[in-house]
Amino acid sequence: MRIRTRLTLWYSAILLGILAVIGSLSYSVLRWSLMQDLDASLMTVAQVVHDTRSDDTDDSDLETILRNLLGPESYDRFVQLFDPDGRPRPRVPQPRASMLPFSAQAQANARRGIKTFETITHDREQVRILTVPIVEDKRVVRIVQVGSPLTRAQGVLRRYLETLVVLIPLGVGLAAAGGYLIAGKALRPVDEMTAAARRITAEDLHQRIGRLGTRDELDRLAETLNGMLARLDEAFRQMRRFSADAAHELRTPLTALKGGIEVALRASRTPEEYRQVLASSLEDVDRLIRVAEDLLLLSRAAVPPEMPRPRIELEPLVLEALELGTRLAQGTGAHVKLGPVAPAAIRGDSGALGRAMRNLVENAVKYTPAGGTVELTLRTADGQAVFAVQDTGIGIAPADAERIFEPFVRLDAARARETGGTGLGLAIARSIALAHGGTLTLEREPGPGSCFVISLPIAS
Ligand code: ADP
Repeated sequence: MRIRTRLTLWYSAILLGILAVIGSLSYSVLRWSLMQDLDASLMTVAQVVHDTRSDDTDDSDLETILRNLLGPESYDRFVQLFDPDGRPRPRVPQPRASMLPFSAQAQANARRGIKTFETITHDREQVRILTVPIVEDKRVVRIVQVGSPLTRAQGVLRRYLETLVVLIPLGVGLAAAGGYLIAGKALRPVDEMTAAARRITAEDLHQRIGRLGTRDELDRLAETLNGMLARLDEAFRQMRRFSADAAHELRTPLTALKGGIEVALRASRTPEEYRQVLASSLEDVDRLIRVAEDLLLLSRAAVPPEMPRPRIELEPLVLEALELGTRLAQGTGAHVKLGPVAPAAIRGDSGALGRAMRNLVENAVKYTPAGGTVELTLRTADGQAVFAVQDTGIGIAPADAERIFEPFVRLDAARARETGGTGLGLAIARSIALAHGGTLTLEREPGPGSCFVISLPIAS
């Protein structure tokens, strides 16, 4: 069912409920006030009887007054006088046709000097009766019964009910129609957004959903969807760039390999020449293997772990990285040393983290000329274990500070030196840090060289 229909149905049902409650309350109040009016007029008649002095035996004065007050017909039907024992007083000039019932409860109350209101059915119509004892000198001298038919009050109530029965459905119907129109108008932008979103495919993710500028919920939804599209667009673009870079990275050694083999096959060669071709081919194959392995590492590093990770100490990993750095630095003239190391434990994969640290140390040694130093430190700060590799090497220009973390990015200095890197080392290290809830950044330090820092949350 469409939201518009659902909203209208809910709205109409709630309105109907509210009107039904209000209708029945107002009906009850009207009924109560009509009864109050009736009882008050019965009391007035009773008061007239009370105030009219007449002697015990002769009621003719009183009868004349009441006949004039109520009209002869009402008087005959709805006024009755009894003596204190509950016997009806004889009527002047003629006895009455049908008597109102005089209930035992009303008689008992009257004897005790208490008035009684009752609603009874008399001659097939409902009648409200008031029975009042007239007390003189603390003695009940007479009992008056005054009645009034409920026909008029019932007529008013019936008409009110009929009005409610017609007006409430009419009101609800009109409100539902209005609600349906308003809901349609309010939801029209959603339809437009749906159509716009449907038009956007993976190929044209640069398109955006039109905003209304109303700064309401729907505008915010359009803004959120546009933000998501921008991120998707960027992710797709990165993916395309990555595929192109990866293909390029694989094609260079493959072309060299092919060229070498073709040249070797063009004429017959001496065993020594074949050996040289094979040796150079092996280098290209090694490079291909390195790229393939790094690509595999990069894709694995980004996958979050399925099981909770074990607690590991970072100190042994730092020492391993130091050992590797020292080995690599033999013959380069650079000096690799260990700075302050504070014990710190984190939750993670020691293999992956060791790899990230090694990548940083390898780079530092690679880009630090003879006489330079590479220093490894481990400290703790603000709940983070901070591993830093500081070198005094060629350094990195501020403009390249973020770019170097992208896959296959190698700076000109690195290319010129033919250091043989794949350009994936920093991307892998950063992925590993991120997968551990940490970060890898290039810190700005005074002086020459660069300082790469991995921060990881300490295990609780
Ligand atoms: P590579 O395999 O080329 O080392 P990386 O992703 O590890 O790839 O590094 C990307 C680039 O960042 C390198 O080619 C190099 O230009 C630069 N770089 C990395 N580490 C350093 C460093 N310690 N000093 C100077 N330049 C660096």
